[in-house]
Amino acid sequence: MSDSSELSADLGYVSELFDGIQGEGLFAGYRQAFIRFSGCGLGCDYCDTKHAQEREGMFRVFRGGTVPIREHKNPVEVKTIVGELDDLLATIESITAISITGGEPLEQPRFLRQLLLALKALGHKVHLETNGVESDALALVQDLCDVISMDIKLPSVCGRDDLWDRHAEFLKRAQECSLVIKIPIARLTKPSEIEQAAGMIKEAGRGAPVFLQPIADKNGDITISYRHIIELYEVCRRHVEDVRVIPQIHKVIGSP
Ligand code: SF4
Repeated sequence: MSDSSELSADLGYVSELFDGIQGEGLFAGYRQAFIRFSGCGLGCDYCDTKHAQEREGMFRVFRGGTVPIREHKNPVEVKTIVGELDDLLATIESITAISITGGEPLEQPRFLRQLLLALKALGHKVHLETNGVESDALALVQDLCDVISMDIKLPSVCGRDDLWDRHAEFLKRAQECSLVIKIPIARLTKPSEIEQAAGMIKEAGRGAPVFLQPIADKNGDITISYRHIIELYEVCRRHVEDVRVIPQIHKVIGSP
């Protein structure tokens, strides 16, 4: 849920700034700068950024490698993030877009809006990655995002079966933006879940591309079989025209 106790709009909790290869969805394969927000209330079973579920004490800046080159105390000001981003972009000219990820960025919507205003004023392309349940917060920022990538969290993957209505509302309200949809899938994913998700997407009438994303286990192995993936693909394709299967490629190549 969005945090009604959000601080002033200029202050927020951010976990990391780093560069890497985008490993998911429409922009998979491009080098991007990533601003990872801190804090997410969903608690998905498969979460691979558990450190970002809680609001962390420090905002860390990475430049390749695993040791931060600088740290700032959270909550951090928009101008601090923008200054660090400027430094990063000055040394890596090939970066063409900024990914805002999490944690869940839409849990700090007023701060996110201030950050996006600053990024757009500098002419940056912005790609927002969200868990796809904070539709009220979406209304505050969608005019400032070039692309929004929303997740649909299936019970078999996330461990929760109470998100369907929130996803449906998000889909309905994401009308002013370019939208892509990511559905993480795993060994226990049922065709009936994909049927429900794809039917919901069709009903929203968005015609957005859908990425089925086989997720890896703790050892980094994808355990869902090819046969199972194809079965889910065909179910999804009955409702959605543009369906693609892409695993998280950044993990394969060792990108953060
Ligand atoms: S929504 Fe994303 S960040 Fe939040 S718990 Fe789930 S996977 Fe982790």
